[in-house]
Amino acid sequence: MSNKPKHEHEANKLHKCLRHAVGQAINDFNMIEQGDKVMVCLSGGKDSYALLDILRHLQASAPIDFELVAVNLDQKQPGFPEHVLPEYLTSIGVPFKIVEEDTYSTVKRVLDEGKTTCSLCSRLRRGILYRTAKELGCTKIALGHHRDDILATLFLNMFYGGKLKAMPPKLVSDNGEHIVIRPLAYVKEKDLIKYAEIKQFPIIPCNLCGSQPNLQRQVVSEMLKDWDKRFPGRIESMFSALQNVVPSHLADTELFDFAGLQRGQSLKHGGDLAFDSETVSFNAPRDDEDEGLPEKPARKVINILGSKPKAGGCGAG
Ligand code: SF4
Repeated sequence: MSNKPKHEHEANKLHKCLRHAVGQAINDFNMIEQGDKVMVCLSGGKDSYALLDILRHLQASAPIDFELVAVNLDQKQPGFPEHVLPEYLTSIGVPFKIVEEDTYSTVKRVLDEGKTTCSLCSRLRRGILYRTAKELGCTKIALGHHRDDILATLFLNMFYGGKLKAMPPKLVSDNGEHIVIRPLAYVKEKDLIKYAEIKQFPIIPCNLCGSQPNLQRQVVSEMLKDWDKRFPGRIESMFSALQNVVPSHLADTELFDFAGLQRGQSLKHGGDLAFDSETVSFNAPRDDEDEGLPEKPARKVINILGSKPKAGGCGAG
């Protein structure tokens, strides 16, 4: 007996689940609004293909109108298959622009052989993409970073940068001109791997530049994968932690007025429970009434899914 129906069922389930995860992130961070023109940065990797694909589906059913335009930067790496993305984008009918800039030669010229080239390369790429967004009149720039990228960045910053800082799902670009969004912020990488297999995206390998891989990022990614295998739920808990920050129980005097603490003030976030073994509950509701946390401004958000999205990840793994 063919197991096609089972595969189809699983593929549909994954697709639906990814749509919900992306829709939820878009709603939570008010990423896309009525009339937006969203520039989707497409590298040819699984994440950006999935991002474009899911946004297209949301666009078709969303109660708001927004435009999508896919942009790829052809960095003139040796062996880059120039035809792949135009053919794919034409076949699915998405407006697109291929920007040709030889950042490859610039990076090779400026940096010594054997040096990790990614940071200069990304900086150059960012500048070109921002310029392109302006030229195209885009109001948002969508990037394909996912939940595991966000967590890996958190640990990299802690281990090597001395900062409690991850990768924001939404931010204003350094030059203040653009809003950058990461609609895959709630999506697990393993779901994207599975989705790319199902959809048979024409993946372009990411090692064409011949750059040394970023060893630190690789080590952190392996650590997270190992934890995910050995301690189910740990990754989910860590991501929840990013959404439940308690400044009064950290040590940043800019974020919390430790100097001004007075006896007799009301308890903050369970007071000194930090000294006891705390009952851990995932997705604990955030109490914005507590001092130390800025109140969330009231705003009207249009639900991009047209219905209440479900919380939680998808099923891969
Ligand atoms: S892997 Fe290559 S193309 Fe990608 S950011 Fe690094 S240097 Fe640039």
